[in-house]
Amino acid sequence: MAIKTSYLAKHVRTLKPSGIRKFFDATAGMTDVISLGVGEPDFVTPWNVREAAILSLEEGFTSYTANAGLPELREAIARYVDDYYCVSYDPESEITVTVGASEAIDIALRAVLDPGDEVLVVEPCFVSYAPLVSLAGGVPVSVKAKREHDFKVQARQLEAAVTGRTKAMMICSPNNPTGSMLSRAEMEQIAAVAKKHHLLIISDEIYAELVYDDLYTSFAALNGMKEQTILISGFSKDLAMTGWRLGFVCAPRELSQGMLKIHQYAIMCASTMAQHAGLEGLRHGRSDMADMRKSYRQRRNFIVQSLNDMGLPCYKPEGAFYTFPNIEATGLDSETFATRLLHAERVVVVPGNAFGSSGEGFVRCSYATSMSQLQEAMKRMRHFMKNL
Ligand code: PMP
Repeated sequence: MAIKTSYLAKHVRTLKPSGIRKFFDATAGMTDVISLGVGEPDFVTPWNVREAAILSLEEGFTSYTANAGLPELREAIARYVDDYYCVSYDPESEITVTVGASEAIDIALRAVLDPGDEVLVVEPCFVSYAPLVSLAGGVPVSVKAKREHDFKVQARQLEAAVTGRTKAMMICSPNNPTGSMLSRAEMEQIAAVAKKHHLLIISDEIYAELVYDDLYTSFAALNGMKEQTILISGFSKDLAMTGWRLGFVCAPRELSQGMLKIHQYAIMCASTMAQHAGLEGLRHGRSDMADMRKSYRQRRNFIVQSLNDMGLPCYKPEGAFYTFPNIEATGLDSETFATRLLHAERVVVVPGNAFGSSGEGFVRCSYATSMSQLQEAMKRMRHFMKNL
């Protein structure tokens, strides 16, 4: 009898599937489900942006673009980043248009990590960071942002985790899943650690536009930090373009050119039609942004108040579109809480442990859903809490 061989590489066999996906699969075949589980806007991409893609096809723009992206899009990104993130990049040599922020994270890690290099990954965090560090040959080192600090990692926690092998830290502010946002002063303390130990900050700033109370600060804009920062952002969240798969990465020339080498072999270029849409979004999409932000702010205030009132303590997030209530008072772990809530009330939330072990005791509730759906979801959750 032939011996069955697995052709999968060991490091892929041992890779865990995403804790978010696993949970969504459980809703298959269920009706009348309200999802607070998804990490994407409920808005449709603004019409003028969609129209630009249609026009791009009508005009026959169906070939590859330059590997780094359409020059006019890179120029528009440079102007936008200068204006909003307050840092200047050369569109010719320091900006790459990517297939979402997701690809940008991947090529950033692959461009800088030698085998065994350590990356400080601040948890709870977006599900892809640690697996992508491992796939790039690095070692993810978890640094846990704590509830008593409103999930803002402390500079001294990062410093305590630095070893001779540490190359970079992976930070996301405003954060998925907690919604917390570092203040400028907190960022400066973290930047000082990066400078002292010559570490790179890989800064996922995909939620930069979704901030509600404070002014936005980018790591790259802090004094002297441009040289030590890879700035990652995109179009998915602010312009409601998740399905278009469009993002960008900005970094000093040497790093940027390194990432571009990987991008050109693995991807060639981001979708041409999506790039034309993104260009229109940057040129004329900003007015819709203000409306979306206003609507998210209202929903945030409503959901935070409702969760606190029903006995699920939840601090007020400063950015993104997630709340991260504590569920420990229910006596359930996060996976049991989410599973029982789904089956009893047909409301989807994501167990906090999907975002790293420090997320245990919490669930992520996204408020990127309509106010009427949010009201119904809160009603059902109140009922669930009463019946526990
Ligand atoms: N980073 C964070 C923190 C995210 O939440 C997401 C999407 N959920 C991404 C990156 C990926 O974004 P994109 O759609 O641009 O690949």
